[in-house]
Amino acid sequence: MAREVNQFLSRVFVQRRKDGRTDLEAVESALRAALHQAGAAALTELLKFEAPAAEQRQLPCRCGHHAQYQELRSKPVLTIVGPVRVSRPYYLCAPCGAGQFPVDAELDIENTEFSPGVRRMQALVGQQAPFDHGRKQLKVLAGLEVTTKSVERTAEAIGADIAQREQEEI
Ligand SMILES: [Zn+2]
Repeated sequence: MAREVNQFLSRVFVQRRKDGRTDLEAVESALRAALHQAGAAALTELLKFEAPAAEQRQLPCRCGHHAQYQELRSKPVLTIVGPVRVSRPYYLCAPCGAGQFPVDAELDIENTEFSPGVRRMQALVGQQAPFDHGRKQLKVLAGLEVTTKSVERTAEAIGADIAQREQEEI
């Protein structure tokens, strides 16, 4: 990480010596991108979970049977420092066919490829439709590439969740 940032700063200084100018916006944007990239690489390492120990290779299933550990599976997740991969144990219940990723529940990334931090951002920018504005805001403010559809979906899902909680409180 430090090496990449150093290389980037050397290029900035070389440029400044050449033309005597510093384009602050270009430098700050590129620096953020470099730091995000380093953060995403670190996060990907952190999100490599190990296969369970021999005595922890089964989990209770909702159907009453047990799900057995199958293998490590990975999926992409967009985090606030950019795209990462999470690799975690997969369990399958043979009698009912239901799969489980206990790590996804722990990390709050069940059935989604967006981290909790990114979902919070999407919900925030999704409060004002049209959702394409939200996509552009995330690009400028957070340096994140998301689709208009994902802003819409997350905003709706979080909206529905809030409405349901309010209903329950009533
Ligand atoms: Zn089952």
